[in-house]
Amino acid sequence: MNLVEDLFEKARINRWCTRHCTTCGALDFRKEVGIIQDGDIVQFVEDLKNCDFDKCSTIVDWSEAISLLFHHPILLLRSQEIFDYWLERSDLSPNHCDHLYFYLIRHFRGISPKPWIDRLIGLAEDNWHPSIVESLLIGLRNGAVDYPNLLILVNTTYKDSPRITKLFLNGTLSKKLLGFKG
Ligand SMILES: [Zn+2]
Repeated sequence: MNLVEDLFEKARINRWCTRHCTTCGALDFRKEVGIIQDGDIVQFVEDLKNCDFDKCSTIVDWSEAISLLFHHPILLLRSQEIFDYWLERSDLSPNHCDHLYFYLIRHFRGISPKPWIDRLIGLAEDNWHPSIVESLLIGLRNGAVDYPNLLILVNTTYKDSPRITKLFLNGTLSKKLLGFKG
């Protein structure tokens, strides 16, 4: 029994929109988040820290749904604590970390993304995961210069990945970042 997994299951069954959606504003889902009672919010935060992201990701836009949860003022207030807790969890998959960084953590002002970036770089070193490298590069843009280990990956392991080369061709990233071998 986990309140977050239950909420996601409810969203899946009812086919609620859980995106940052300009048509419906994910109203049904957000209404459900908004009515979490004061007495339940403490448990909800604990369940969010410990939720099984595999269970949550049975809905398509699970990572956007997670980010919508933080519209709740108490969750917003405790976001640093929740993100720090997730960072310590060794059971999160590379995919989970990628999505949490891309859809959530990089957008939070006042929270340093560096520990997440370092973890993601480590994951991309240990696993073939072009999506992580792509997320980092889109998140950092030319700020990637501050992460030499990432630039080494871009110029070695991932240098022929179409997802990565595209970012240089379409101008998301400066070609100056190429050729960095450490
Ligand atoms: Zn919608």
